[in-house]
Amino acid sequence: MKCLFCRIVEGEIPSTKVYEDERVLAFRDIDPQAPTHILIIPKVHYDCAADAPAELVGHMAAAAAKIAEAEGIAADGYRMVINTGEAGGQSVKHLHLHLLGGRSMQWPPG
Ligand code: 5GP
Ligand code: ZN
Repeated sequence: MKCLFCRIVEGEIPSTKVYEDERVLAFRDIDPQAPTHILIIPKVHYDCAADAPAELVGHMAAAAAKIAEAEGIAADGYRMVINTGEAGGQSVKHLHLHLLGGRSMQWPPG
């Protein structure tokens, strides 16, 4: 069975795409936790960051920074999050980076 995000990459499940290149796809989260909430995912499936090439994880972060500029949230600041495993709050087992912005973020997170 293909995972949910692999199905989004293949266009089997619709998403609101905001950015795409040869390695990553970025689309709006279906249940946004901030005015801007975008998921950046590799097109190839990895369960988590530890399984993926470090260069790809860096590419995801660089893409998020570019998207933050394009979304107009870079000047005020934003948050990047990679939830990992059960205690980390990862519900979809396909590596993804959350880009959140448009409001003040609290620290520490819940
Ligand atoms: P996690 O909890 O694994 O870090 O994040 C998974 C995210 O995927 C959640 O924020 C959730 O709202 C989002 N999500 C789950 N299913 C879908 C979907 O079908 N489409 C989109 N765009 N986002 C989804
Ligand atoms: Zn997948």
